Amino acid sequence: MRCSLRENCGVIGIFSIEGVNVTPLLIAGLEALQHRGQEAWGIAIWGHPTFKRPGIVSQYTEVEHAEISRMNGSVGIGHVRYSTTAKSTVKHAHPLDIGSMADNCSFRIAHNGTLERDLLIENLKDLGFSSPYGISDTELMGVSLHRLLKRGKSWIEAFEELNPYLNGSFSLVILTSGGELIGVRDERGFRPLCLGWHEETSSYVLASESCALEAIGANLIRDVEPGEVITISKNGIKSEYFARQERHAHCPFEYTYFAHPSSKIEGITVYNARKNIGRILAEKYPIEGDIVVPVPDSARPAALGYSERTGIPFEEGLLKDRYKRKGSWRSFIEPEKRETVVSNIIAIKEAVDGKRVILIDDSIVRGTSSKIIVGDKLKNAKSVSLLLTFPPIIYPCYMGIDFPSQEELLAYRICGVSASIEEINRRVAEYIGASFVGYNDVDGLSRGVGLPKDQMCLACTLGDYSCLKYKPRFRKREEMKS
Ligand code: SF4
Repeated sequence: MRCSLRENCGVIGIFSIEGVNVTPLLIAGLEALQHRGQEAWGIAIWGHPTFKRPGIVSQYTEVEHAEISRMNGSVGIGHVRYSTTAKSTVKHAHPLDIGSMADNCSFRIAHNGTLERDLLIENLKDLGFSSPYGISDTELMGVSLHRLLKRGKSWIEAFEELNPYLNGSFSLVILTSGGELIGVRDERGFRPLCLGWHEETSSYVLASESCALEAIGANLIRDVEPGEVITISKNGIKSEYFARQERHAHCPFEYTYFAHPSSKIEGITVYNARKNIGRILAEKYPIEGDIVVPVPDSARPAALGYSERTGIPFEEGLLKDRYKRKGSWRSFIEPEKRETVVSNIIAIKEAVDGKRVILIDDSIVRGTSSKIIVGDKLKNAKSVSLLLTFPPIIYPCYMGIDFPSQEELLAYRICGVSASIEEINRRVAEYIGASFVGYNDVDGLSRGVGLPKDQMCLACTLGDYSCLKYKPRFRKREEMKS
């Protein structure tokens, strides 16, 4: 059986109550979400065909620019995509068109997250859909919703009915055939989604992160709540719930790595969370060193926090070469290109050679990048102590971050599932060639981010998948790519 595509992406939707053209705002918002996906992007404007392209948003050509400029509309959705599937082409880019244009239950949908395909396939077979194989998790969810809408269900009823089959994460923006904008977040709130207001165009804005609101001059109103469906139409805004769970499972990886530092998620500014974690690491691991150096870019605030708390000078000892095409790519996002990306990290020799370097990074997933940075980029340092803002990643993620296979996780590979954190620190240090490795722990993560442990997903570090409807079957990467 084929398996689900792995995605973590960025979504945006804009609705102008006064009928102002929102296409330029959509493009600017998508550019601000580019860090969430660089493989393909797309927009759907009401009254126009869906537009999708590979690569990053700002790479559009003169011809494409002219095409986009003709797509005027007062409501639209957009998506930036990252995926690690072998077949990661523009065909899989969002928004996806569900139903035919003439169909008044049709809609276009953009998804951030990952859903288990097997359950959705089972449900569709029960609904009489004969060929649900070979299509993505988003398309399966879309087709399922469409069939329920065709049977006369409202959107909220359709989500209520489908919810038992939605095992995983989803933050969605939907453009209906009637020109309504809908935002939906799964019942646990794994992935972020927020609501804002753009005064100049009298528009409501839904976006994965508040950095997109900031970029277009909109103000953050609030997060979309887990289990909430927000419908925006000419009549204004309506909030309903298809599910309510007390136990939320916000992904802490958004705070330590994925989200933009300026974004505010669940009322917490990502930059502050990262800096706090740096301070906590300083208390936990008071190492003697000459300089504190971040692995660019997401560890920079944590390194500042560590430096502030210890008084050890902060140095930009590693920099990304931004003038190379691949210099700004994030190494975690594109594993097949990881070594190329790391090779675009340049050490500032005068800053690091001969020094006792305290290196701060957000996480170790497979260990490849850390080994190159410690063993090659910092080979002339006197010593390298590596501190990680995220606890050891031992279990795969099936909620939208791309480490689907346990066998590829370094901490699991060399320590198994029951080693103490001290043992993991020691063995990982040996493996990557560092003088010392110190992982954050779950308490430090919770304190640093500012969310209680029971409001976060910690499945990849604790192996507790109880916030999913069913524990997923662990798969190999090749299986995920098939
Ligand atoms: S398993 Fe890890 S990366 Fe995935 S959602 Fe949970 S905390 Fe985030």
